[in-house]
Amino acid sequence: MIKTRRKPFYSFKSNIFSAMTRVITVISGKGGVGKTTTTANLGTALVHKGHSVIVLDANITTPNLSLHLGIPLYPITLHDVLKKRADMREAVYTHSSGLKVIPASLSINSMKGVKMSKLHTAIINLLGASDFILIDAAAGLGNEAQAAIDVADEVIIVTNPEITALTDALKTVKIAEGVGTKVLGAVVNRRRGHNHEYTVPQIEDMLETEVLSTIPEDLAVPRSIANKMPVVHYSPRSKSSRQFKNLASIITGERWVEPARSKKWYEKLFSWMA
Ligand code: ADP
Ligand code: MG
Repeated sequence: MIKTRRKPFYSFKSNIFSAMTRVITVISGKGGVGKTTTTANLGTALVHKGHSVIVLDANITTPNLSLHLGIPLYPITLHDVLKKRADMREAVYTHSSGLKVIPASLSINSMKGVKMSKLHTAIINLLGASDFILIDAAAGLGNEAQAAIDVADEVIIVTNPEITALTDALKTVKIAEGVGTKVLGAVVNRRRGHNHEYTVPQIEDMLETEVLSTIPEDLAVPRSIANKMPVVHYSPRSKSSRQFKNLASIITGERWVEPARSKKWYEKLFSWMA
């Protein structure tokens, strides 16, 4: 059984700066489904809309946000902040896309003495510095991922349209709900359009949350990473970029997801049997 902790009494919702900063964690359970891609691209799409955004790599053991963005070895990282060697604001790096990034250290030696419990205080020090803080969570359901869910007021679940990713995604939905973090919805990444893939209504039934956006499999994504840029910046007209921009509009409330017609019990049963 998954153990969940109660959210601490203090919440960003009660902070005087909370009206200015939304803290959203991007989580998946399963690794490699597209958390970092979603964090970087949702962040950049929000920047293109005129918002200020900080993306933070909360993946302490296997960080890769800075690799997606081609950030050179940065002298101050989240590791230094969590070891109380530096202030969060000193660790902010500005990418050429305008996105502000707090990278994690790529060195295996830096992990010594890092306390994930300090993440909460570190985020408090950032409140008011931007409109959004997007946290790229670690894979799995361990301490790293839990801390990233705990500190956020909202989470976005990233999944692929296949059973292995969906099963882990469901666990993250339950963990977020258990600690009182609002589940904004799911992003279904890498849809190839094959018959064996789960459909949006099936995914919504399974996760009991709405699908905010479906991102197609797109060669422009790995190409953009090879060029050290988010795809919305590198290839703004690509099919994946269009979906990431829609996702940004949904997050800001400019667009909304059509509410799915609630299915009758026998319809659910038939779709599961199928
Ligand atoms: P995670 O952070 O969940 O581990 P990543 O965002 O790093 O996953 O994505 C893993 C790999 O999948 C990346 O190397 C990226 O190139 C590829 N990828 C992600 N999304 C897409 C997509 N929509 N189309 C094609 N490739 C993708
Ligand atoms: Mg990642």
